[in-house]
Amino acid sequence: MRSIDLLIKNAEELITLQGTNHARKKEEMNELGIIKQGMLAIDDGKIVDVGSDLNYDAKKIIDASGKIVIPGFVDPHTHLVFGGTREFELDWKLHGLTYMDIKRKGGGIDYTVTHTRDASFNSLYQQGNKRLDTMLSYGTTTCEAKSGYGLNFESEKRILDVQNKLNKDHKVDIISTFLGAHSIPKEMNDEDYVDLVINEMIPMAKTHAKFCDVFCEQGFFTIDQSRRILEAGKKAGLVPKIHADELIDTNGGLLAAEIGAISAEHLLKTNEESMRKMAEKNVIGVMLPGTPFSLMMNEYAPARKMIDKGVPIALATDLNPNCYVENMQFMMQLGCFNMKLTPAEALTASTFNAACAIDQQEWIGSLDVGKQADVLLLDVSNYQMIPYHFGINHVSTVIKKGEIVRSNKK
Ligand SMILES: [Zn+2]
Repeated sequence: MRSIDLLIKNAEELITLQGTNHARKKEEMNELGIIKQGMLAIDDGKIVDVGSDLNYDAKKIIDASGKIVIPGFVDPHTHLVFGGTREFELDWKLHGLTYMDIKRKGGGIDYTVTHTRDASFNSLYQQGNKRLDTMLSYGTTTCEAKSGYGLNFESEKRILDVQNKLNKDHKVDIISTFLGAHSIPKEMNDEDYVDLVINEMIPMAKTHAKFCDVFCEQGFFTIDQSRRILEAGKKAGLVPKIHADELIDTNGGLLAAEIGAISAEHLLKTNEESMRKMAEKNVIGVMLPGTPFSLMMNEYAPARKMIDKGVPIALATDLNPNCYVENMQFMMQLGCFNMKLTPAEALTASTFNAACAIDQQEWIGSLDVGKQADVLLLDVSNYQMIPYHFGINHVSTVIKKGEIVRSNKK
């Protein structure tokens, strides 16, 4: 009998997410590849067998009776590294101030930029590290992280350096995105800043990040500026992503399709033509329901319509000072209750499709032989319980690269 490191057995549902290698669309998003009374064999950090009747001589056995086993959550959109928090804005929001009102009053992104620029490498590292600990306890085993609260060469580089050090030191894997074009710094005009991003920051970012992102929105970067930045990033080898159509429809979804972006994010106001083009070009729509929730907008991205039109959908936290959340289970809950996703769609969007949105599906996102053993045990008997029983942490055990890295007392 072959000897292995770890065998998980008796899972009520072993949710493999096996199936296609591309981001799932339409009905594919409901296909979870469930094995009842499932078993998972892990050796040397990788999945070596998946089934219901496996025979191995395992050094360690986990009995998953009464629990489900799923791939680790992937959070494909976070602003992990920032200085300071903005809890005082909650009162302003409750008095009816909008995102733009708060920005004008000295809060918002400018406040965070000041505090991030003033923070030392070590302070940013400690704050990011603490957020990663929270993510891990809620089952996120890989996340994307964006720069974007520096808005000058030195601070943007420092944020990317912090992310890369956290990626080396922390159990959670981090995929870095350069988002120098997050906002226009107060001390510069927009065209000069776009030149700085293109001519100085992107040449630095190409060795520090995998993706290049832009905040394409009225009052931030125009469609034309966004196109120029993303094209420059592409030339430097950075894959495009775009924050698009969050506050108004600027045809950001169309730009994502035209430029070959891997994903477009937010998309609350995206028009049908953009959705059609995104579906055609397989641009993943990354839904961030925490953002309108924390802004009390009562309006969510039309995820249901996008799925029906063939746009592959992922979910993410958008963790940032304006939407302070690390918990992907809560995103599934908001996705179901406020975007009308089915529990199966929400789970696909938080695992396999989320991995696709950061181009990591070759290694993570499903329980397939050969993939990294990033695996969660959840203390529920079926997957519908994850959104149904909301507001608590269902994760009991987190396994990263075959190693138990977190046990939450149950
Ligand atoms: Zn964002």
